[in-house]
Amino acid sequence: MHHLALQKRALAILAGILNTGNIPNALLFSGPAGLGRADAALFFAMALNCSGSREPDSDYQQMLGPKGPCGECNSCRKILSGNHPAILHIRKEGVYIRVDQVRDLIDSLAFKPFEGKNRVVIFHEAQSMKIEAANALLKSLEEPPDGTSFVLIAPDRVMLLPTIVSRCQEIRFTPVDEQAIASFLEADMGVAPKKARLYARLSQGGLLQARQLAMKNAAARWQWLLETLAKISGQNPAQALLLAQVLSASKKRLLTDISWIRIWLADLLKHRLAGRPLPENSPDPGWSEEELLELLEVTDRMEQQISGNANARLALEVMLLSLQRKHGKSGGRPFQALG
Ligand SMILES: [Zn+2]
Repeated sequence: MHHLALQKRALAILAGILNTGNIPNALLFSGPAGLGRADAALFFAMALNCSGSREPDSDYQQMLGPKGPCGECNSCRKILSGNHPAILHIRKEGVYIRVDQVRDLIDSLAFKPFEGKNRVVIFHEAQSMKIEAANALLKSLEEPPDGTSFVLIAPDRVMLLPTIVSRCQEIRFTPVDEQAIASFLEADMGVAPKKARLYARLSQGGLLQARQLAMKNAAARWQWLLETLAKISGQNPAQALLLAQVLSASKKRLLTDISWIRIWLADLLKHRLAGRPLPENSPDPGWSEEELLELLEVTDRMEQQISGNANARLALEVMLLSLQRKHGKSGGRPFQALG
């Protein structure tokens, strides 16, 4: 099953559009990354150009209904591989989608496509359009050339100019609940239940991320990281400095580690403040509310510094030394092995 299949509401709207054949000039697929927005744009473009015969029970038909694509014909395969001349992908160059990219696009739309019934222009990360670029696009969104439609992909409508949003039909992609993600990982990938629940929790509603975590067997890293951090508490400062050196070796890895540390600390705090049960696979070093609040603050500051290209090791040392000074109370619980 494709991870997009969990976006039932968004798919139902798309299936409805395909069924009626009233294709909007412009669609806005909004929602956080990792939910399948770009694949939905591709499948939509495939459906509009498909020339194959559809199998009623295929994955595509289950997602997009009887007018969904076949996935097999020449046109479908070309679109899937990114080689269909009528499907245009606009992506940022450097930091922005620039105005000259949009002007070049509009010039090229003056010519009829050589191939395909329906031209679809997909704007990836549409929020990275500069204002001039967005303004240059307005007229085309309102009156696209015959047989052309636009799909804009962005995390949230508020990140786009209101004049752009008002010309689009918005379809929202929403984070999936943890239980549905865990069930999917168990059924589709054979992940053990405990690990599936951990990946669902760490993915924060994104099935794609959960899948990647499962493929990387990230549970081993999670267990090592949290066990190590819980042990630093009350130990020799030299241990904290050594760990800072180890963790700062890869910045990309480190940013993921930090996001996990924040999830862990936030869960511990909810446990202390509201008596919420602590999720399984989380050690509890027994830190107090005040200590946890301070650690969360230090963690946020560290992340900002590292994202802003500060020296990762130094920022991490500050955080780990602060953690090392916490002694915790009794009543904590150690790590439970992952099943
Ligand atoms: Zn097809």
